[in-house]
Amino acid sequence: MVIKRPRGTLDFLPEETEKLQRIEKEIRDLCLYYNYGEIRTPTFEHTELFVRGVGETTDIVEKEMYTFTDRGNRSVTLRPEGTAPVVRAFVENKLYSNMQPTKLFYIGPMYRYDRPQAGRYRQFHQFGVEVLGADDAAVDVEVISLAVKLFERLGLKNLSLYINSVGCLDCRPAYKEELKNYLKENLQSFCATCRERSKQNPLRVFDCKNSECKKAISQAPRVISYLCNKCLNHFNEVCEMLELLEIKYLVDEMLVRGLDYYTSTTFEILAENLGAQSAICGGGRYDKLVEECGGPDTPGIGFAVGIERLLYVLSSNYEHLESSPQQKFFIVNVGEEAKKEAAKLVNKLRDNNLSADMDHMNRSVKAQFKFANRINSSHVIILGEDELASGSVTIKDMKTGREDKVEINNIINYCNNIYT
Ligand code: AMP
Repeated sequence: MVIKRPRGTLDFLPEETEKLQRIEKEIRDLCLYYNYGEIRTPTFEHTELFVRGVGETTDIVEKEMYTFTDRGNRSVTLRPEGTAPVVRAFVENKLYSNMQPTKLFYIGPMYRYDRPQAGRYRQFHQFGVEVLGADDAAVDVEVISLAVKLFERLGLKNLSLYINSVGCLDCRPAYKEELKNYLKENLQSFCATCRERSKQNPLRVFDCKNSECKKAISQAPRVISYLCNKCLNHFNEVCEMLELLEIKYLVDEMLVRGLDYYTSTTFEILAENLGAQSAICGGGRYDKLVEECGGPDTPGIGFAVGIERLLYVLSSNYEHLESSPQQKFFIVNVGEEAKKEAAKLVNKLRDNNLSADMDHMNRSVKAQFKFANRINSSHVIILGEDELASGSVTIKDMKTGREDKVEINNIINYCNNIYT
């Protein structure tokens, strides 16, 4: 029986991986311009981190985590998101003792046991940034602008940025009470999970995908009307600065995001042509998470972008993104002696940082040319007995058809200088 990949996972074959790498290059360049350093945390963590960080009564923790007991009887979880691990690393490595802020980014796989559908997978990849140690509204705007800039550079169109504020520990409790009252009065309109959550964690009712619940919650009091002065000023400052940078946004008063750690600013970027799973980026402030994870009182903000969804919205529009070097040499070789020479030459080309390959299937010359075409070779070097005897080869530019005679001793030089 053929073994298939697990449900909700993807194989990235070389052509797709190349696209991924182009996206990743844009991300890494942009993060360099914004002065963010890359962090790589483990793909699994102690389960407790997510239970505490993301929140016990969130969808992720209640329904979606890949949690198992390892051979040492510890409960570990494949990371469902990147913020809690970065915060854990910030605390564990005492990054708070450096001059702040700490600006980090990551790219890597995440795991959620959700019902797979187009744009929703059980293993997916996220690019995320986190800024720790600064609560200035300008940082919120920097983070948002980084996401917007990335999408611009990738050439994405028809995106909408939605923002909101979910308040802080000073103003949210009063709002929660109001919301609880509303839910209590309208309990019959909500599903069993929402009814349960209305007591423990009423904000999570906003995350419910049930259409009846969605309808009922749309009439509920909005957190933005309950913000304290500090949160309201912060929110207004964010809006002003977005306008200053000419970043278009809409306020979505229902945007609370599905994780408990958010405080103050929340935001999401939606792509029009993504259908049901239209969010390509989501983020917000988490000013209490560092403390929650055992560190000193430190504000934080970040976002995560779904890479598979980026791939989808980009579809085939990759031409403008930088790719790996275009020159690719293929050595067509005929005869035993020529084959040995070709093996040496291929080695030498690679030693000189040039992409090179040769025939390994004893194909005819015609079939070797066909294969060279198939793997998108830019140039073919023809090496047969005649060439060995004369000490020079023909190098053919596969695009223009131009052929040059080049001395064997001068091949590397010629190939190095082709496009300079
Ligand atoms: P979240 O961590 O839920 O705020 O998600 C941030 C971004 O990650 C979303 O906007 C999506 O683009 C992406 N994402 C989240 N869950 C999935 C999933 N199951 N499959 C693919 N992409 C996802």
